[in-house]
Amino acid sequence: MTERRPVLAVIGAGPAGLAAALAAAARGVHVTLIDSAAEPGGQFYRQPARGLGARRPRALHHQWRTWERLRAGLDARLAAGDVTCLSDRHVWCVERESTGFTVHALLGPEQRESAALRADGVLLATGGYEKVLPFPGWTLPGVVTAGGAQALLKGGLVLPGRTAVVAGTGPLLLPVATGLAAAGAKVVALVESAGPREVVRRARPLAQVPAKLVEGAGHLSRLLFRGVPLRVRHTVLEAHGDERLAAVTVAALGPAGRPVPGSERLLPCDTLAVSHGLLPHTDLADGLGCGLDGPAVRVDDEQRTDVPGVWAAGETTGIGGAALSLAEGHIAGRSAAARLRGDVPDRGGWARAAESRTRLRAFFAELDGACAPAAHWPEQVTDATVVCRCEEVTAGAVREAVGSLGAGDLRTVKLLTRAGMGWCQGRMCEPGVAGVAGCDAAPARRLPARPVPLGVLAAPTQPPPAQ
Ligand SMILES: Cc1cc2nc3c(=O)[nH]c(=O)nc-3n(C[C@H](O)[C@H](O)[C@H](O)COP(=O)(O)OP(=O)(O)OC[C@H]3O[C@@H](n4cnc5c(N)ncnc54)[C@H](O)[C@@H]3O)c2cc1C
Repeated sequence: MTERRPVLAVIGAGPAGLAAALAAAARGVHVTLIDSAAEPGGQFYRQPARGLGARRPRALHHQWRTWERLRAGLDARLAAGDVTCLSDRHVWCVERESTGFTVHALLGPEQRESAALRADGVLLATGGYEKVLPFPGWTLPGVVTAGGAQALLKGGLVLPGRTAVVAGTGPLLLPVATGLAAAGAKVVALVESAGPREVVRRARPLAQVPAKLVEGAGHLSRLLFRGVPLRVRHTVLEAHGDERLAAVTVAALGPAGRPVPGSERLLPCDTLAVSHGLLPHTDLADGLGCGLDGPAVRVDDEQRTDVPGVWAAGETTGIGGAALSLAEGHIAGRSAAARLRGDVPDRGGWARAAESRTRLRAFFAELDGACAPAAHWPEQVTDATVVCRCEEVTAGAVREAVGSLGAGDLRTVKLLTRAGMGWCQGRMCEPGVAGVAGCDAAPARRLPARPVPLGVLAAPTQPPPAQ
């Protein structure tokens, strides 16, 4: 009789999940790789929909060779039966039991049915999502997140519009602006609220990862070559339009982080791609009882969370780009395989990945310090601006809850105004509502991790098939 291989459920098939799956599958563990997208790749290697028949998908990507290596590795493991790949599965809950875990996922684009699977260990590689802060006009059609614009381009091979302003703060703005420009959009401006001084002040620690600086310089030179104006220390004050976006007003930021009077400029455009940074997905980890460090899942040097049998890797443990996700995924996969088989992990085997993890974490901590939204952005949010889109709560209502009704924390603001009670459960609006209310945006427990139909919750639980 052959020995049963331990089963590791890897949730998320981006760079972290793929690296983890390959490392674990190579070391005697069966991996079930689960992702909500139709194809593996995650945000960085988002693949065009199959039906589109893209002839040169690599044209929209950088570091394509790494993707080819990951894809070839995955195909080999699938063929050998070491990995099972489940796409279009939206994990809404992971239950911890005495003998392992049950992973519950909604199926397909409709997400009306749920299926369960059993695993001996779980590795969370669910990545991050975009933070977008409100401003007057941000709910107009034509205003999209920067990652959303990129997803349309990489996944659907379509441009969100013809003339685009890319705005906000953070390194994501650069690939989005170069991607839109290369695909034929007229990028009217790249508007970044951070200033060059913030970067220069951190030049020495940033120079520890020259490859990242070269990548950034490459994006900048492509934008300059195409004549895209870079407006650093600038912010979007307002988006204008009747039925849809027609223009945005941008202004320079003064030393205190407030718009400089008289510096306003109107930029006609049909698309505003905006992002104020990324936040880690922590819902599943939270639901399992894993501790957090600030907004990210806390892990040790093996990428173990503080719940036995649960690992986490990639942007769920902190925002740091694809290379860091690959390094963390590799370490997590090796550790999980060893631990699930009852062995002691060979730390020497991942020394290079650990060294790269240290450098990249330090790099992104510095970059995070340099990129920040305009310091006093809530002052620009008018009372009439909707800050919680699901429940249509205005900034005025939030201010009234704080000012007249005495709400002193986000939970009370939510109870008094319904801000954060809708479909997104605060995932999108929480930083904006917190900023307008002047409260801390503490990460909250939010299971289920996805909106689940009542029929799924009411259905009798089927025991998952034994693996
Ligand atoms: C919108 C967006 C666009 C980005 N674009 C760029 C870019 O152009 N260039 C760049 O350098 N960096 C970009 N980044 C940063 C980039 O995501 C990371 O560098 C890298 O992809 C992180 O890898 P990861 O494996 O940690 O997470 P991801 O690549 O985000 O992969 C996470 C995977 O988990 C899946 N997932 C999440 N939750 C669930 C769930 N509940 N159930 C099932 N599956 C789930 C997702 O579908 C996704 O495939 C982007 C980030 C975001 C959020």
